Amino acid sequence: MTALSTPALSNLQINADRLWSTILETAQFGGTPKGGVKRLTLSEEDRQVRDWFRAACEAAGCTVSVDALGNMFALRPGRDASKAPLGIGSHLDTQPTGGKFDGILGTLAALEVVRALNDAGIETDTPLCVVNWTNEEGSRFAPAMMGSAGHVADLPLAEILARTDAEGVSVGEALDAIGYRGEVPLGTQKFSGFLELHIEQGPILEAENLTIGVVEHGQGIIWYNGRITGFESHAGSTPMHLRKDALATLSEIVLAVEKLAVDLGPNAVGTVADITIARQSRNVIPGEITFATEFRTPDAGILEALDKGLQAAVVRIAQKRKVSVQLDTIWRKEPTHFDPKVTGAVAAAAQKLGLSHRPMVSGAGHDSFHLATIVPTGMIFVPCKDGVSHNELESATKDDCAAGANVLLHAVLALAGDAAKA
Ligand SMILES: [Zn+2]
Repeated sequence: MTALSTPALSNLQINADRLWSTILETAQFGGTPKGGVKRLTLSEEDRQVRDWFRAACEAAGCTVSVDALGNMFALRPGRDASKAPLGIGSHLDTQPTGGKFDGILGTLAALEVVRALNDAGIETDTPLCVVNWTNEEGSRFAPAMMGSAGHVADLPLAEILARTDAEGVSVGEALDAIGYRGEVPLGTQKFSGFLELHIEQGPILEAENLTIGVVEHGQGIIWYNGRITGFESHAGSTPMHLRKDALATLSEIVLAVEKLAVDLGPNAVGTVADITIARQSRNVIPGEITFATEFRTPDAGILEALDKGLQAAVVRIAQKRKVSVQLDTIWRKEPTHFDPKVTGAVAAAAQKLGLSHRPMVSGAGHDSFHLATIVPTGMIFVPCKDGVSHNELESATKDDCAAGANVLLHAVLALAGDAAKA
C-alpha cells in the first residue's frame, strides 16, 4: 500500500478527461436543447441518472445503499472499518431550467476521487462514502435540501413523505414510482465528516480571477410572508390624506428592507419580491397586497438585528398609514459555520496544488449546511461563468472542475488518509 507521505501521492491528480466526460454523459438525462438539464427530483430522468450513478459507483468497487428518502450512499471501505466514513458528494437533481454543474459537479467529482484512488491503489484509513442527496433543489417538492434535512432530523420523515408536487403526487409516491424508496432507515448512515464541491453560483471568484473558494460560512436566512390590508377606494375622489394605500405602504416596507440590509452590511442582503395586488385596477387605490421578503447574512447577531429592525419598521409604517400589516416568519435558519479542520484541509490542498484561493461565504443554501449541524463539514467552490446558475446557460470550465476535484481529492487524503499513520 502506498504511504501517504510519498512524493508520488502528493502529486496525485484526478483524471480531468474522465470527470468531464461523466459530466457530459449524465447531462443527457434530462438534457435540454439549450445545453442545460431539466431533471426534477424523483422524475423519470432522475431515475435514469440514479441508475447510472449506482452502476458507476458499483463498478468503482463501492457498495450502494438507499435510505427511506432515496438518499444514495456509495461506500468505499477503508483500513479502519470501525471509523464512520468521510462523506463526499452533492446532488443530481436540477431546476426545471437548470445547468449541468449545480450539484452534479460535486457528486461526480466525489465519484472521480474514488476512481482516482482506485487507479493509484490507495486505500484510505477512514472509509469514504459518495453521496447523492435527494431533492436539493426544492423546485418539485418544497422545501429545498429535503433529503439532507431528513438525514439530520431537521424534518420528520412522515412530514417529508407527505409533501406533494403541483400535480398532487406525494414524495412517498414519487419515490415508489421510480423505485428509490430504500431499505436503510433515515439517518442511520453515519459520517465522520462531510465535504462538498460546488460551483460558486455567484460572481466573486471569476471577478477576482481565483480558482478555489474555501467556504467558511453559510448565510443564515429568514423568510417572511406579508399581507397589507388597507382600503380600496376611488383613485379620483379620495383625497390623499384619507387614503389607506396598501401599495404606498409596501413601498415604504421595501425601502425599509433595503435600508436595514445596507445599514447592517456589507454582509447582509434583503429582498422583497413575489408581490400580488388583489383586484387591481388603474382607478382603484390598492387595498390589499401580499408579498414575500427575506434577509440573509452569515452573522447570527446581524440576522437578529435585521429581524427586529423589520418588525419595528412594519409596526411604525402600519401605524403611520393606518393600515394593517401581517408579517409571518415562515422559515428561519441560523448561519452555518464550517469546521476549521475541514476548511483548513481545503485551504491546505489548494495551497499544495498551487491553486489561487480565498475564504468565502456561501450565498446559496446547500446540503452541507444540514450536515454541518451533526458532523465537521466544509465546502469547496469553483467559478462559474458570469456567476450564472439555475439557468441552462450555467457553465464552468473543464480546468476549474478538475481543479476543484483535485482539491477535493487532497482534502480527502488529509482528512481520511491519516497520513501520520502511513
Ligand atoms: Zn446545488
